[in-house]
Amino acid sequence: STSILWLRRDLRLHDHPALAAAHADGGEVMPVFVLDPDLLARAGEVRTAALVEVLRATDESYDGHLVLQEGDPAEVLRRLAKKVGATRVHISRETEPWGAERDERVREALAQDDVELVETGTPYVLGPGTVLNGSGNPYKVFTPFAKAWRDHDHPKPCPVPDDLRLTRGGVDSVDPPHVEAPVELPPLGEEAAMQRWADFLDEDVAGYDDGRDQPALDSTSRMSVHLKWGVVHPRTLLADLAPRRGKGVHTYVTELAWREFYGDVLHHNPHSATRDLTDSLAGLRYDDLDDETFSAWAEGRTGYPFVDAGMRQLLEQGWMHNRLRMVTASFLTKDLHCWWPRGAAWFMDHLVDGDVASNQHGWQWVAGTGTDASPYFRVFNPVTQGERFDPKGDYVRRWVPELAHIPGKAVHQPWSHDEGYDHDYPKRLVDHAEERKEALDRLEQTR
Ligand code: FAD
Repeated sequence: STSILWLRRDLRLHDHPALAAAHADGGEVMPVFVLDPDLLARAGEVRTAALVEVLRATDESYDGHLVLQEGDPAEVLRRLAKKVGATRVHISRETEPWGAERDERVREALAQDDVELVETGTPYVLGPGTVLNGSGNPYKVFTPFAKAWRDHDHPKPCPVPDDLRLTRGGVDSVDPPHVEAPVELPPLGEEAAMQRWADFLDEDVAGYDDGRDQPALDSTSRMSVHLKWGVVHPRTLLADLAPRRGKGVHTYVTELAWREFYGDVLHHNPHSATRDLTDSLAGLRYDDLDDETFSAWAEGRTGYPFVDAGMRQLLEQGWMHNRLRMVTASFLTKDLHCWWPRGAAWFMDHLVDGDVASNQHGWQWVAGTGTDASPYFRVFNPVTQGERFDPKGDYVRRWVPELAHIPGKAVHQPWSHDEGYDHDYPKRLVDHAEERKEALDRLEQTR
């Protein structure tokens, strides 16, 4: 007999509970990925280019057995199940709203042929919905969630079954879409991810506590793109960290807990993918930015060097350092008074690691509509943030060549430098002090 393993955000061979469950059915396992036009339409060029590369690597991990099909997953899977006589289709549970709805549709379609959709595991260490407070309710703020999450038993990695038998079931794959990657993609796939992870453990995790906030050092793990597609599972990362001690390790685990927290928040609040999580800022007045102003932000031409450096890194690498994600999001929402979903959509279109839960809630945290308890009056100052987290100015000089001639931290204030505008660096789009005041005035008006 054959069981189907329908892969989605779990594009790996190792530590894969749904694969183990498919194997436990007792027969051969047919791994399938469905190129769903609805999914691809939402993914954008950057993530599609990364996905195609990840699929190529996944096929290698599965010894050339990955079956690529195109179409509506409900139809594709019914057809494949019929062809190979499968009565079970295995998946990792999806809790993100769009995917969860799709899975319900597929479950109903398969049931018509008496084929069962079996869920084992999720993209998280603890499946969203697992961590609850003493009264059985989900946590609304991070710190108590993180504590409860740490105290909870963490499942151990799941070994690849020794006697795994893979099959393509006599089905040919379709060609993946041809997409020219608009960004410089990092090495992708399971092997590349584990290599990067091993390097991070050797070189950077010990100093992560300090290093992670200095974008010029580029010393974070860059696991986000791999976690996004489930090329590595966070359970594997935690198991590798378990025997290690130190502040860096502790802080890294806290960062993974943020990912778990946002997955949990989205599971309990599917509306927060598109709208404010809370109504704390209901009635706040936003500006409807014209395209020119929005593009100045999106393309890194605000005249604030730290902001522009971040936005340009995003366009070139499809990735931005976390500190810059906060500073650039704050600039759009507080200095330009734009409602967060427009910025979040730009990020989703350009990030290789674009993930609905982490992105929308990262934006909402900054905007003050989300899980941050101390809220809207947190307005990041783009100059002092730059001086503090890029004290030598190296990060800005790397991404903003018009300022490469300005030494040291003076690069954060080209308006105070004699040669600040010698190479056509744009003048400031707005005055930060004024816009900060405007943001706070608008907040006052909602009270
Ligand atoms: P590391 O510093 O090495 O952290 C390790 C892992 O911890 C990350 O890979 C990630 O999975 C998790 N993590 C770290 N910080 C956060 C955080 N604040 N929230 C959730 N998880 C975190 N992360 C995404 O994966 N996809 C997104 O689309 C995304 N959008 C964001 C948008 C905004 C406005 C903000 C403020 C943050 C966003 N983040 C997002 C979180 C964070 O910036 C990235 O996870 C991180 O920069 C990825 O780089 P890294 O893997 O080197 O991180």
